[in-house]
Amino acid sequence: MAKLLEGKILASKIKKELIEEISDLRSKTHNIPVLASILIGENEGAKIYTACQKKAAEELGIEYRLKKLQDSISEKELIDFIERLNRDSSVTGIIIQMPLPQQIDQKTITSFISANKDVEGMHPENLGKILLGKSKIVPCTAKAAFELVKSTEINLYGKEVVVVGHSEIVGKPLSLLFLGEFATTTVCHIGTSEAARLIEHVNRAEILCVAVGKAGLIKGQWIKEGAIVVDIGINRLDGRLIGDVEFAEASKRASYITPVPGGVGPLTTTMLMKNTVEAYKLQKL
Ligand code: NDP
Repeated sequence: MAKLLEGKILASKIKKELIEEISDLRSKTHNIPVLASILIGENEGAKIYTACQKKAAEELGIEYRLKKLQDSISEKELIDFIERLNRDSSVTGIIIQMPLPQQIDQKTITSFISANKDVEGMHPENLGKILLGKSKIVPCTAKAAFELVKSTEINLYGKEVVVVGHSEIVGKPLSLLFLGEFATTTVCHIGTSEAARLIEHVNRAEILCVAVGKAGLIKGQWIKEGAIVVDIGINRLDGRLIGDVEFAEASKRASYITPVPGGVGPLTTTMLMKNTVEAYKLQKL
């Protein structure tokens, strides 16, 4: 039976390290990281998310400044707002909450945040640095999944890793992190599924990370004996949350598996705070 890879255990270890690091930075710089969070419109989910971020930030000694904007804002007005935050030296991190109103293009906007303040790691420069193996700021969910795998103390060198899902925010950066550790990394996506070849890749994965958003996409019986399974997917089914992997059956075969909820999710906000500290160091040290 697989051991559970619970995000909150690793999150609490990282939070302790961050509290010490922030206290150290406060002594050195006589200041603390300040995270500006842009919330556009009245989305209930985003409001809950910002409340969680505020709590997490303040527990660690990070100042959280919520900036609420009207959902009628134009792209140009939002860019001007971001550029003012870029110039404000008291703000050391910037995050834009999703979803964005339809007149705003996410990729365009992300590229206007100063790369040193981009705590979500989605600026092209930060994504490019992952490719070069020089990244300080990595998209939070990808980093959370990667750190959960590393917490098992597995040596990634030469291991067969399969990442299912190739989004720019999760699958692609995650696969590059594994590649950076010399794991043999395969990335599967809709083309793999439509060619009916997902099963053959999943079958040989010693480490399997799934970030798709389709409940039960990965059958438990496909899992290789002893595999580490990180299920990033979140799906709401009959009022409860489940992942992309059939948990009960996969647990019988895997050596480690993340629960959903309780796996990657609790670690993601902690990684956002870690990125906020990295951004501060890039600017102030
Ligand atoms: P996207 O929708 O951006 O990406 C989904 C990916 O899955 C795409 O690359 C898509 O490929 C691929 N895909 C779609 N259908 C299939 C299929 N049948 N077989 C194989 N691949 C497929 O989602 P995200 O990357 O943003 O998120 C993925 C999941 O992770 C979601 O459930 C989301 O809720 C969850 N999530 C969890 C977080 C957490 O903190 N735990 C944080 C962020 C996301 P293509 O583009 O080619 O169609």
